[in-house]
Amino acid sequence: MSIADNIITVREQIARACRKAGRRPQEVLLVAAAKQNGATAVREAIKAGVDAVGENRVNELLEKDGAGAYTGAPLHFIGHLQRNKAKQVVGRAALIHSADSFELVSLINALAAQQSIVQELLCEINIAREPSKSGIAPGEADAFLHRCAAFSSVRFVGLMAIPPAEASESELRRFFSRMNKLFVDIGTKKYDNNNMQYLSMGMSGDFGVAIEEGSNMVRVGSAIFGSRSYE
Ligand SMILES: *Cc1c(COP(=O)(O)O)cnc(C)c1O
Repeated sequence: MSIADNIITVREQIARACRKAGRRPQEVLLVAAAKQNGATAVREAIKAGVDAVGENRVNELLEKDGAGAYTGAPLHFIGHLQRNKAKQVVGRAALIHSADSFELVSLINALAAQQSIVQELLCEINIAREPSKSGIAPGEADAFLHRCAAFSSVRFVGLMAIPPAEASESELRRFFSRMNKLFVDIGTKKYDNNNMQYLSMGMSGDFGVAIEEGSNMVRVGSAIFGSRSYE
């Protein structure tokens, strides 16, 4: 199967999940998670109509950006962003999915101010409170966004989560549904730099369930590009 064929299949699965949930397929944005795939594969995915390309390693992003891989689609940064690499990503990525600490947001804000831009961010939530994972604890999300509200060169446009890899379908459903509730709750709070539009959750193995529970942005890698040798 080609990348274009895989994208057709993924779009059909998105449409099916939307029908089940009584939602419109156009509401769900498809981000191609391109890690470990080169510029040629990324160009194929863009040509086949993904809504954005997601990278989770800064070095890969710079290499592919240098090769002009992202022309025609917004670039998203979806991995954990180390502070010493933030400078390469701010202004280059249309959306950073992984704002996971006050220190990182403070730095992104300063870098964006230097460029006179407003950097859009998603707040990453550690939905299962896994010690090994980064992200803001669900119960601290509101206080975190409140604390970040004075940063005028960033804008929080949604939430992102990665549930535990070993979760069963019913556990996944619970995590996703909890995320949706948090997304709706936080959407009612009005901070100057907060405009909750995107709920980024769902990967190749679980995007159908994520959509049924309210996701409107799925990050799909292996179902588009084939399997990889690292996560
Ligand atoms: C790799 C990755 C994905 C996609 O994973 P697949 O299981 O290959 O679809 C989504 N989100 C993040 C943050 C990733 O690193």
